[in-house]
Formats: sequence, structure tokens, C-alpha cells
Amino acid sequence: MKKMKKIGIFDSGVDTPEEIILAAGFTPYRLFGDPEIEPDKANEHIPPTHCGWTRNLLELAIKGFNNDVVGIITTHGCDRTNREFDIWKECVDVDFMYFLNSPRKLDSAALKFFINDLNELIIQLEEHFNIKITEEQLRENIKKMNTIRKLLREISNYRKEMVLSGSEFHGIVKKVQVSNKDDAVDILKAKQEELRKRQPFSKKDYKKILLTGSDLDDTEFIRYIESLGFQVIIDDLGVGTKYFWESVDETGDPIEAIARYHMNKPIHSTKFPSYKRFEVLRRLAIEYKVDGVINIAQKFCEPVLYDHPYLKKKFKELEIPYLFVEVTYNRESYKQLSTRFSAFAEII
Ligand code: SF4
Repeated sequence: MKKMKKIGIFDSGVDTPEEIILAAGFTPYRLFGDPEIEPDKANEHIPPTHCGWTRNLLELAIKGFNNDVVGIITTHGCDRTNREFDIWKECVDVDFMYFLNSPRKLDSAALKFFINDLNELIIQLEEHFNIKITEEQLRENIKKMNTIRKLLREISNYRKEMVLSGSEFHGIVKKVQVSNKDDAVDILKAKQEELRKRQPFSKKDYKKILLTGSDLDDTEFIRYIESLGFQVIIDDLGVGTKYFWESVDETGDPIEAIARYHMNKPIHSTKFPSYKRFEVLRRLAIEYKVDGVINIAQKFCEPVLYDHPYLKKKFKELEIPYLFVEVTYNRESYKQLSTRFSAFAEII
């Protein structure tokens, strides 16, 4: 199979339309950080009091991508991804860069605004790479992505059956977000077959958790939580259910269908109104009968920090145990959190 070039995705809210990238003939390639490096170069451009995850991504981007990455789409997730786009344009060596303005509101004006910007993305891709993106290609790739979403939803359910650990699932979603999507379908089908035969691990000692919060792309962090007695049986994360919540409508106008899909899925802390985010979390916590909710904020992640008092109050009203933890994007720092997690495990 011919190796496809990649378009990197810098997005804190998984709102980037992978169908459009696929229709343009590229592999969508979500950018992840590396919590084992220090963002020394990035700190020359961004104050150290800004979100560590985005500084880490900038550090990797300054070091350079391999030749397969021919462009970057930055999608408005929070004001970090928004403002840092200008910095990336100055110091990251990639020819094609596009800022996709995913709206913060969810009304009809916002839908129109998003559709316009998705159409502008198509125009810019066509002009820059001298290609044509057809409606047929978009429909074909909506189907492909829907197949992936459906497989991920089915595989995700094995978490609550205690057959699949939260960390293994997190690793699977990450792999899908960087893989050629035909390969991803094969990987997921093979995993599904394997899971059908797998026996549940011991259920009795694990505290069942709903995990929410900032961009959490380090699978080691999920593994760390597990080592302290938790099992993440459900989440609303970008490397998680937000990526495959439901399917894109395959019958209507493809661009409108993609826009509607992204505006109807669980919202990020950066979007308005907050109660919609809580409604999803409340529903998941009750439906999955979790023992508790853990909300993780990357250090200096303002959207999640602002959400915390509201979520704390609402979960208290529901009498669902809730833990908020701020984490530094650095593996060494995880160990310092063990007391807080262990104390929470004891009270739930
Ligand atoms: S972790 Fe928070 S501050 Fe950082 S990019 Fe994500 S939403 Fe923005």
C-alpha cells in the first residue's frame, strides 16, 4: 500500500474534521506530547505559566516533524490553541497551516459559521496541494470514520465489563488517531475479536471511575491511576468517548453533517453553555453506576480550572464522590499525587 502523507492535527477538543483530510488524500495525524521532555525551546516563546501540554507540543514541533507531515491544522479548542497558532506560524517549519475556527457556541449562527470555515479549509487544501475534494470522497470517508467510531464504541464497552483496562483502551484510541484509517479498521476488528474471548479481570477491588478534564494524552497517567486501585470505565475525553460519541449523518449534505456532528457531541470546558457539559457527565455517572468522578486539569488549564467549582457543587448535590486534581505534564510529577488519589479511593 502506498504510504500516505500526513496532516498534523493540533486540537484540544477533537473538532478537526478527519473526513476532509482523508478526502484530500492525507492521513489525519493527531499530535501528542511527550511528557518525558522539557519544553525549553517552547519556553522562549510562551510564558511558563501557560498550559504545559501545549508548550510540550510546541517543543516537539520546533524540533521538527518527519517528512511525512506536510501540513498542520490547528483547531480552536481553547485560547492556547488559538493564540499559539500565530507562534507556530513563526517557528514551526511546515508549509501548509490552517486555523479552523470551531465555534464556542452551539446555536444556528454558530453552525453556519462552522460550515463556512470547513468550506474555507477545503478551498485552502485544494489550492495549496492542487487537488479536488469531491462530495463523493467526503461521503466515502464519513462512512469510513463512522465504521471506526462504531468499533470504538463497542470496544469501549469492554471497560465496564472489566475485560479491558482504561489504559489499554486509551492506548487504542491514541493509535487510531495517528494511524492510516484503513489500518485502524483492521486493528480495531482484530482487537474486538480478541476481546470477545478474553476473561474479565478481578472486579472486586477496583473503584469504577468516570474520568474527565483537560487533554490527557499520556497513557502512562491512566496506568498510574489504575495502579492506585481505579478502573476508568467511562470518560468524556478527546482521547476517549468525545472522539467517537455517535456517527455522522451519512444522508445529508456532508459538510453540514460533519459540522452538526462536532457541535452535538459532548462539549469541552471551553464551550458554552457549561451545564451541557455537566449534563453529559451526570448522565454517564448514573448510567455507568460509577463509584466516583475524577476531574484532571493540566497545570494552568484555565477552562478546566474554571469548570471545577461548578462541577464540584453539582456532583455534591447528586452525592457522587468527586475528586479534582491538577497535574503537571511530566511523568516524574505523577508520583506526588498518590496521597490524593489513595485518600479518594478510601472514601468511595
Ligand atoms: S489542556 Fe487546557 S489549556 Fe491546555 S490546550 Fe487543553 S484545554 Fe487548553
